Amino acid sequence: MGLFRPTALRDRVTELTPEFLRGMGVEALLLDVDNTIATYTSHTPAHGAVEWARGMVENGFRVIIVSNNYKKRVGPFAERFGLDFISFALKPLPFGYLRARRRLGVGRGACAIIGDQVFTDVVGANLCGMRSVLLKPLEPEEGFTFRVRRFFERGLREKFVRRKDVIQ
Ligand SMILES: [Mg+2]
Repeated sequence: MGLFRPTALRDRVTELTPEFLRGMGVEALLLDVDNTIATYTSHTPAHGAVEWARGMVENGFRVIIVSNNYKKRVGPFAERFGLDFISFALKPLPFGYLRARRRLGVGRGACAIIGDQVFTDVVGANLCGMRSVLLKPLEPEEGFTFRVRRFFERGLREKFVRRKDVIQ
């Protein structure tokens, strides 16, 4: 259970405020792309996401994009957001996150991974000793393996909602 447990639950990335993140001891944000700041199929950022990210940077947070997707997809998003990025990160393996952390020059405990998937974003965070905020995916994905994964994630999410050690 510990491996799958996020630090906090939120629905949308735009709900995260500087006060909330600072309250978790967070100074740096490692942002997922697909279904976190853009829908899976879209080439444009989700409503309000660019402004939200800019607000975080203006509030002194270090922000970087860390995605398992290819450079061809992640690069244009990073440019649109004005952020550095790591693509093909092989989440939940720690390498991409640790590289991101080194680039930002922030301690592991001050990093929060923001993403929509338990089995990549949250597990990766826990393997690295980082905080995590689990969001609701922006839209359902196509395909059998994703549907199976989302089924298990919904069960876990319902468990987390009942737990007192996950920030709601
Ligand atoms: Mg995602």
